[in-house]
Amino acid sequence: MRPVTDPVARAPDGSGARLHRAVYVDRDGTVNPDLRYLADASRLEVYLGVAEAIRLLRAHGYKVVCVTNQSGVERGYYTTEDVERIHRRVNEILRPQGAEIDAFYYCPHAPASDCPCRKPRTGLFERAERELHLARRGSAVIGDRVLDIEAGERLGLLTVLVASPGHEEAVRQEVAARGVTPDLTAPSMRAAAARLLAIG
Ligand SMILES: [Mg+2]
Ligand SMILES: [Zn+2]
Repeated sequence: MRPVTDPVARAPDGSGARLHRAVYVDRDGTVNPDLRYLADASRLEVYLGVAEAIRLLRAHGYKVVCVTNQSGVERGYYTTEDVERIHRRVNEILRPQGAEIDAFYYCPHAPASDCPCRKPRTGLFERAERELHLARRGSAVIGDRVLDIEAGERLGLLTVLVASPGHEEAVRQEVAARGVTPDLTAPSMRAAAARLLAIG
């Protein structure tokens, strides 16, 4: 059991703000089926069990933060307004089920831009840490692709790879090619949340 005198982690900016643990979740293939450059929020579906996972994590004190690569913006397939509409729609679907994603961060750039925010780079995670007062220790990342796991490894987060329907072979190849080892694997986000809480 954790001693009651356990010091509370505080923000490094001297503000005294209390730090929260976070679970960073990928979007496409993790929260919702990956429809490849989805532009139209009305086509969005959220996987079964995601609401329950988020509800559980938040009930245990985690902030749930979505971090997603949306290169379709720079590629010209959709706009930032489309992306933000989809993010509002995710929470519209989740809220009646008692769940909500605390914040969404997305990279709008194509890989050729070599930006610091596209996963597996960690710019968006670091921004979320600053803006939302998130601790690194005790935080985790859940995603369906190796770039999610790689970003988590770079930050020293606990990493959970969830099944990626339709991309199983690609993921196996990515894991082998990049030499990345997720801490946990799970068939779904709900199972990932249960495993995290079991060891947390
Ligand atoms: Mg994904
Ligand atoms: Zn970017």
